[in-house]
Amino acid sequence: MPSYVETEKCDGCKGGDKTACMYICPNDLMVLNVEEMKAYNQEPDACWECYSCVKICPQGAIFVRGYNDFVPMGGQVQPLRSSDSIMWTVKFRNGNMKRFKFPIRTTAEGAANAYLGQTGENLDDERLLLEGELPTPK
Ligand code: SF4
Ligand code: SF4
Repeated sequence: MPSYVETEKCDGCKGGDKTACMYICPNDLMVLNVEEMKAYNQEPDACWECYSCVKICPQGAIFVRGYNDFVPMGGQVQPLRSSDSIMWTVKFRNGNMKRFKFPIRTTAEGAANAYLGQTGENLDDERLLLEGELPTPK
């Protein structure tokens, strides 16, 4: 089920040119009502439930109603991202709460270099950047 914004929590990313949720949505679904300074999902049917907007919102204002195979019935799951880990909070309908924290990176933020050791000499090669040698035809 699609994402939705809790309007009391949304501050419109304090009036920036492009809000965090607009920037991150791969489907360009999030828009800002500039009069109210509140964001909303303009086309819920097209939402992939990818959670990207949920994870990036600095106010924790975006939620996704999860399906029962992922979220316990009547419960809620909410991620909170930091620079090196993500914390998932699961709230059960009986009030119980569980938290799971997972690391999300093996290098410091901003330090990853996908092109390290790549010279870019073989741009006409049919192989992808990190593919090995092609098998020899028999
Ligand atoms: S990222 Fe969060 S606070 Fe910013 S506009 Fe979107 S819902 Fe509102
Ligand atoms: S859950 Fe993903 S597809 Fe849906 S509005 Fe958020 S970023 Fe866009």
